[in-house]
Amino acid sequence: MSTIYNFCAGPAMLPQAVMQKAQQELIDWNGLGVSVMEISHRSKEFIALTQQAEKTLRELMNIPKNYHVLFMHGGGRGQFTNVVTNFLGDNGRALYLTSGQWSSSAVKEAKRIAGEAQIDEINIVETINGLHQVCMPDLNQINNDYRYVHYCANETVDGIEIFESLNSPWPVVADLSSTIMSHEIDVSKFGLIYAGAQKNIGPSGLSIVIVRDDMLSLPSLVQSSVMDYNITKDNDSMFNTPPTFAWYLAAEVFEWLKTVGGVSVMEKINQQKAQLLYDCIDQLSFYKNGVAIENRSRMNVTFQLADSTLDTEFLAKAEQAGLVALKGHRIVGGMRASIYNAMPIEGVQKLVDFMQEFAQKHS
Ligand code: PMP
Repeated sequence: MSTIYNFCAGPAMLPQAVMQKAQQELIDWNGLGVSVMEISHRSKEFIALTQQAEKTLRELMNIPKNYHVLFMHGGGRGQFTNVVTNFLGDNGRALYLTSGQWSSSAVKEAKRIAGEAQIDEINIVETINGLHQVCMPDLNQINNDYRYVHYCANETVDGIEIFESLNSPWPVVADLSSTIMSHEIDVSKFGLIYAGAQKNIGPSGLSIVIVRDDMLSLPSLVQSSVMDYNITKDNDSMFNTPPTFAWYLAAEVFEWLKTVGGVSVMEKINQQKAQLLYDCIDQLSFYKNGVAIENRSRMNVTFQLADSTLDTEFLAKAEQAGLVALKGHRIVGGMRASIYNAMPIEGVQKLVDFMQEFAQKHS
């Protein structure tokens, strides 16, 4: 079978080496004669796995000691809710910065749980010379007392990424679902980071939460024990049965990333991959991208064909060439190439070659 390059935004492709190892271990993990899915989460072998996973993640992201790492159920949206229920008890208020589909969905959920009065919203994307650009307001000028400010560092649907760190008088809560570990960040600048796993971590369903210790004393609402950050922390993320297979695979992805050289090496590769693709888009008038250069996502490269009547043919021919899942999100249309950590540069090069050839044939 020829190589297939999968550009799906999530669940996304996982490193091939990890998938091959998992395949081998599927019926015999760790010499136990059974898979990791079939053993107790309280067994010493599984607990050793979870400890190693946390240790490697802490190394990869350089997570300071005063932060807890939680492995939770519920994906990215689960955390849209958890942030509110854990931090907005006692009529607290929060500020949400919106920059696209996912941060807007987080606002919707926050308002659903806390009510309109407790949630303020500022749209931080402006259209300048026809391009979407993030214009961060000066948060220090806002005279309000917020429990936290929430933003989404990479808008998976819109292809908008925010690389700068927020200068905020309130704790920063960030949705890093589609950018976590794609470039180096300073964790100490955040009150809480969360990420659904299905892009740079592992299978869907799992979410990772990295939370600063003092955040855990904020007043919470009555909520499910499973979604309570304090209960999760006090029970080493095992208040109930965790998604063990997803946790195992995440641990394998962390080890893989370490072997590749860690986040700083991955960042350079990701820069190269994104550059290749954006250069192709910019050099051919056949394609366009509507995001300002400084906010172009390195993980989700959105682009449109100048002649959208060719969209269907583009997608069909790409698929024939082994380049799959390039269709843009149904809300925004066009194309989207998601090039997370697991996408090798060869896959991006193959896409660029295909795009050049397709443009040539139709120009
Ligand atoms: N936030 C971002 C940035 C996402 O890309 C997604 C999913 N694509 C979510 C949140 C929601 O994640 P989930 O489907 O796991 O709830």
